[in-house]
Amino acid sequence: MKKKGFIRINRELCKGCGLCIVACLKGSIRISNKLNIKGYHPAEYTEKEKSKNRKCTGCSLCAITCPDIAIEVFRG
Ligand code: SF4
Ligand code: SF4
Repeated sequence: MKKKGFIRINRELCKGCGLCIVACLKGSIRISNKLNIKGYHPAEYTEKEKSKNRKCTGCSLCAITCPDIAIEVFRG
């Protein structure tokens, strides 16, 4: 069975640098067109947390890459 995971991004901690988007090999993160409280366009997860079809594997590359520790990874 393929590994599954999902992430949660704290949009108020995010500075919209885009590093997590480059790091995610599954294309599961994009930049939001809304602003956060600091005036940045934050990253957002593109998938539904419990969707059977989600591509996120829980690999944590996005979270490791994030300089602002704004991403939490869940497995399963
Ligand atoms: S945990 Fe891995 S697959 Fe999931 S969003 Fe982060 S980089 Fe992408
Ligand atoms: S790496 Fe972190 S700060 Fe940069 S866009 Fe992603 S969540 Fe935001």
